[in-house]
Amino acid sequence: MNLSTPIEELRGVGPVYRGKLKRLGIKQIKDLLYHFPHRYEDFSNIVPIAQAKTGENCCLRGKVLDISSNRTWRKRMSITEAVLGDETGAIKIVWFNQPYLVNAFKKGDGLCVAGKILSDKHGFHLSSPVYEKMNEQELTHTGRLVPIYEETSGLSSRWLRGVIKYLLTTVAPQLEEPIPEQLLKEHRLMPIKKAIWQIHFPDSLALAEKARERFSFEELLAMSIWILMERNKLDQKKAFAMPLNVPLMQRFTGNLPFKLTDGQKKASWQILKDLERPSPMSRLLEGDVGSGKTVVATMAALNAFKAGYQTVFMAPTEILAKQHFKTVSKLLEGFKMDIGLLTGKEDKFTSRNLKNDFIEISREKLMEKAVNNKIHVLIGTHTLIQDKVKFGNLGLVILDEQHRFGVEQRAKLTRQTTIPHLLSMTATPIPRTLALTLYGDLDLSLISELPVGRKKIITKIVTPAERQKTYAFIRKEIKKGRQAFVICPRIEKPDLKISDIRADIGNQNMTEVKAVKEEYEKLSKKVFPDLHVGMLHGKLAMKEKERIMRDFRYKKIDILVSTSVVEVGVDIPNATVMMIEGADRFGLAQLHQFRGRVGRSNWQSYCFLSTDSPASPAGRPSRKTHQRLKALMTCENGFDLAEKDLEIRGPGDFSGLRQWGMPDLAMASLNNLPLIEKTRTAAKKILEEDPSLKKYPALREKLKSFHQKIHLE
Ligand code: ADP
Ligand code: MG
Repeated sequence: MNLSTPIEELRGVGPVYRGKLKRLGIKQIKDLLYHFPHRYEDFSNIVPIAQAKTGENCCLRGKVLDISSNRTWRKRMSITEAVLGDETGAIKIVWFNQPYLVNAFKKGDGLCVAGKILSDKHGFHLSSPVYEKMNEQELTHTGRLVPIYEETSGLSSRWLRGVIKYLLTTVAPQLEEPIPEQLLKEHRLMPIKKAIWQIHFPDSLALAEKARERFSFEELLAMSIWILMERNKLDQKKAFAMPLNVPLMQRFTGNLPFKLTDGQKKASWQILKDLERPSPMSRLLEGDVGSGKTVVATMAALNAFKAGYQTVFMAPTEILAKQHFKTVSKLLEGFKMDIGLLTGKEDKFTSRNLKNDFIEISREKLMEKAVNNKIHVLIGTHTLIQDKVKFGNLGLVILDEQHRFGVEQRAKLTRQTTIPHLLSMTATPIPRTLALTLYGDLDLSLISELPVGRKKIITKIVTPAERQKTYAFIRKEIKKGRQAFVICPRIEKPDLKISDIRADIGNQNMTEVKAVKEEYEKLSKKVFPDLHVGMLHGKLAMKEKERIMRDFRYKKIDILVSTSVVEVGVDIPNATVMMIEGADRFGLAQLHQFRGRVGRSNWQSYCFLSTDSPASPAGRPSRKTHQRLKALMTCENGFDLAEKDLEIRGPGDFSGLRQWGMPDLAMASLNNLPLIEKTRTAAKKILEEDPSLKKYPALREKLKSFHQKIHLE
């Protein structure tokens, strides 16, 4: 058995455990060793039985004097009782629903137990303690600092402790140090062989902390190196140089019904300058919801076209792809361009030829056009384009709301040896530290202001008592000519992240659809029978979705009841009310995205956060919920909000990082700027001296698994 042995070869790991482990991303022995506890229970203090006191957590050691089990019929519960004695006294132990324990020990066995002392109807006793037979040479579950692992996927800490401890003695000695010797010294890091023990079975909390620090360093170092290597790889590639056509850009901006903001001007300048160079651009355009990123992207596409190259524009959802198609086509009217739209499911594609308006063509035709340079901008969803299309002369990839797109993925889109330039856009506010780690500061463009004239969106929490008043308000807005969104939450999974939701779009759960249908029935029949209420969810046919979005855009629908399909990017400037049902079920970043659907014109807009979840029977939101929703009321911009979110929830939820396989410890360290800077500097130095890591085989090995994980997506 070695570090890369698949876990199924481990004794005691059958198909069930294998499934559970795989869900945690654990495939090899090494992954198990790198599955770290998230906290420790301190059972190191063994007290004499006579000193055990009610209400205290303690660890006791003695001999089993008696053990028996019985079943209470009325409550259908089994109770196992034992008596444990040492030289100072004896105490009763009670376990519920673990009848097998009767056979686990017999009278006279030495036993170590840890748990809480209670005094209740069972008398003075130790309640459901963790236990361990004393004939094991060294204690694993009691009598020490005991590791507690996340138990989300049905793997008990007890099971993990057993397996990991076994691996620590048998396989862990084969672990090689991935951190270069001089860095270990310079940063006083604990060496791997010691650290792997101390992180699982620490001798003290201080040592556990030192071990954790060391592994954070290791993960962040690996990540920084990986990113720098990707970067170097990219820098060696060629891209098409696209001369900046200033008069063309001026003509474009002159045609706009508004003036670009300073942020938009600066960002487009940076992008257009990048495009002039013969090496591939990698730029992230960050701008809060509504800051006008689409226009900036469109300028880049126009310039690419003039230079003779194609652009592909990838959106996270179908609805958004269609919207982009409309917006971009409109913006590029008069520039003699062919723009295609590729969407899923119904295999119909539309191409806009300047004079012909929209014509539908088959998928084959569209792909043929793409490969023969007959389409200048192709718009579609990420997945569809990635899987299906090849371009003849692709010069630029624009990604809306997706963060990682490796060199290989870029290369796959073309038939050329050149790599297309990449412009990645996001409204997810990525904290500076994170952006630095992921992109390096050179490649970040920021639009930090909204177009002038936008008013602050008024955000309010709506309790059930205020619901009618809110409906009356919505009615008034509609009478003024405005429109409203009503969002229904997904009921079954409260803590979904924005990225998960996106991954899930088009595959929406029926529960959510049901919630939307109910809300729609209520609003259209009872509350607003005289208004036009529409309904939108992912399960509708594409044509139907399209029709509804069109009706909403052209004001044939006043109120749109929808699932999270409209979360990202949807742009209906006339809508001024966003009412979010079950607001407590959404994450802050998500709520901010929803709110960003309104306030896209100079009308005063409103966001109502309705919370009457079962979690708050009194009708008042719980304190923590309140804290989150309040943050939304006080923070207008996504960056402040991201920081608040970081405070309230801790890091770990940004931009789908977990999805692309970022290790937990690296995630947890993302708000540790000094550590990020340290590892980044170290990574640079290592690569300068030894670009292919010849001197560091263990580090190279580590990167390999990192690379695999990220490209598995
Ligand atoms: P996002 O950055 O969220 O993708 P969009 O690109 O969808 O934002 O733009 C939001 C809205 O603002 C659109 O209706 C767009 O036409 C409008 N817009 C963009 N730039 C400006 C500007 N400089 N002044 C006024 N409105 C603008
Ligand atoms: Mg957008």
